[in-house]
This record gives sequence, C-alpha cells and structure tokens, in this order.
Amino acid sequence: MKITIVVIDIINDFVTGIFKNERAEKIIPVVRQLLNFARENKIPVVYINDAHLPNVDVEFDVWPQHALAGTWGAQVVNELEPKKGDFVLEKRRYSAFQRTGLDQLLRKLEVDTLILTGVVTDICIQHTAADAFFRGYKIIVPEDCVEAINERTQKAALDYLKRVYGCKITRADEIMRRKWS
Ligand code: ZN
Repeated sequence: MKITIVVIDIINDFVTGIFKNERAEKIIPVVRQLLNFARENKIPVVYINDAHLPNVDVEFDVWPQHALAGTWGAQVVNELEPKKGDFVLEKRRYSAFQRTGLDQLLRKLEVDTLILTGVVTDICIQHTAADAFFRGYKIIVPEDCVEAINERTQKAALDYLKRVYGCKITRADEIMRRKWS
C-alpha cells in the first residue's frame, strides 16, 4: 500500500473568508500534525485548491463567487503553508480529479491509497472520493481532518463515504500510530 495525503480546499475563503466556517478552523491543528507526520515519513502531500475563473465557472450558478485564482481567498491558510517537496494543484470543480492532473501525479508516485483531508465533507471531499473510487483508489478519511458546515451534514457525509465508496473512516492519531513503508 502506498499512501498520499490529499489536502482539499483549506484555503482562506473556506475558513475565514466568504464561506467562513469555525468547524473548518478547528481541524487545522490536527491536519498540521498529520502533514508533519507525512513529511517526516516521506509520505507525499498533495494540496488541491479551488482556483476559480470569475463569472464563468459552473459553481457560480449555485454559489457566490469564491476562491478566485490568484487572490487571498484561494490561498492555503498560513498555518498549513505548503512546504518544499509538497505538491500543489488547482481545481475549478468540486472534485480534485476534474482536469487537475491529480490522477497522473498519483500514478507517477505509484500511490494506491488516498488519505482525504479538508473541506467540505459533503461537497469537495465527497466528489473527490467518488472519482477516486471510480479510478480504483482505496480511500481513508480521518474524521477529525475533514469538516462540513454542521454536525448533521458531517455525519451524513461520513456515513455515505463509508457505505458507498468503502472509505475507511478513522482518526489522525490512528494513522500516525501506524508504520507506513
Ligand atoms: Zn469552488
């Protein structure tokens, strides 16, 4: 098994910006620990962030404009700033696999298992899990490293991920206790 940590949309607009979310803020220290663990253990870290084009992106039929490419809102929060050796990709859809080069990168790294972290659980995490599942990846979701806008949607999404895509729902300390070679 070769794993990678995928960090989805822990960017300013989803934490303190237009989609301000205190629940998202709370997972940052745990994600930070997990990323440090990954770097120490040579586990690849892949950030994938919303970087929308103004007006034209399909999401703007549903949501207000957010995370425009090149703006503060689209930047990873300071506490989780990418480090040397991490990969940083951009997306314009919910799924991290839609025209981002993620699949090609993972195949190059010979990764077969994704650890999904970030926000929000019932939107970008869930759509990314679907595309990962369709492509044959195994998926692990530490529940203390993903968040939704409330407890109800968080619980429902975790249940869905487990039931429909066979995601293993766990916690960050559980992952950090294991030896990953
Ligand atoms: Zn978006």
